[in-house]
Amino acid sequence: MRDGFGRKIDYLRISVTDRCNFRCQYCMSENMTFMPKSDLLTLEEITLIAERFIGHGVKKIRLTGGEPLVRRDMSDVIQRLGRKVESGELEELTLTTNGSLLSEYADHLAAHNMHRINVSMDTLDPYKFAEITRGAKIDQVLTGIAAARRVGIQVKINMVAVRNFNQDCLLPMAEFCADHGHDLTVIETMPLGDVGADRTFEHIPAEEFIAPLVERYSVSPIAHKSAGPARYMAVEPLGLRLGLITPLSNNFCDDCNRLRLTTDGKIFMCLGHNAHVDLRAAVRNEGIEAVDRLLQKALKLKPLRHDFNAQLDGSADILERHMNVTGG
Ligand code: SAM
Ligand code: SF4
Repeated sequence: MRDGFGRKIDYLRISVTDRCNFRCQYCMSENMTFMPKSDLLTLEEITLIAERFIGHGVKKIRLTGGEPLVRRDMSDVIQRLGRKVESGELEELTLTTNGSLLSEYADHLAAHNMHRINVSMDTLDPYKFAEITRGAKIDQVLTGIAAARRVGIQVKINMVAVRNFNQDCLLPMAEFCADHGHDLTVIETMPLGDVGADRTFEHIPAEEFIAPLVERYSVSPIAHKSAGPARYMAVEPLGLRLGLITPLSNNFCDDCNRLRLTTDGKIFMCLGHNAHVDLRAAVRNEGIEAVDRLLQKALKLKPLRHDFNAQLDGSADILERHMNVTGG
């Protein structure tokens, strides 16, 4: 698949639920309201749509949310899509999770061809962790990560950079990741949805955020590439691979290869734009073949780049859609 600007599209992110057992401050408001369950794609619809996308050339699928592992029938989605990896139709099936339910799921993930996952953890400090997630327990996440490692799953840690909050947590996090063999990715906050806070205070450019690491260690760019938008650096002599995801300070849209299937069955071609097509209604009324037609329409809708900077400085309207709906 190619979009209107000639970019190859082969990476699908699926938000399997908008629900979550955490309430991270940059992602949701404390009193977040979720979609009625009847709006969610069913397990059958998710897998049929994903299989149709695979037929059109999608090679990698990431399951995300919300917290994907809180969805009750998640084991079945993983099992069915895992078979596509086994048959060679899919190169990779992966997951972004807050890690809280990983202990329960690690065996199942490994058994169904999930070899690498991302776990989000913004600090190792239990009090700060409880603060940013509004009440979650870090020990549960650390136990989950250890369970995943025990069954051979590689873990990358996602750390969202929040100004005046977790810059002092970066060195301990980098050292923890190096000790345990995890990659670490630092992500700039993106202005998505009303979370009940002024986002200009939260945002810190990734280059500024990593200053404590640059002061202590040698940090230099490396050529490594992943399916996502991160730029990579080697942190020596720690032996850490550090990724930076910099949607605001260093736009990466030229290489964007992604499309996103939302919890309620819409295809969004960009996290930062509202242009989308609605698959759910079409699939329910016309059958799964509707995906083929709407996918062609969606490819033409993919914008050249997002407008996060304008949304952050107030010159463009902030998107009403929260991160958990489109999937991070
Ligand atoms: N619940 C899972 C988790 O936290 O890993 C998966 C969904 S979450 C929306 C995916 C990623 O998006 C997480 O790494 C999270 O930290 C990040 N995220 C959420 N809201 C964000 C925002 N406004 N800006 C940047 N990253 C955000
Ligand atoms: Fe939940 Fe992930 Fe959003 Fe945190 S970032 S509230 S864990 S969906």
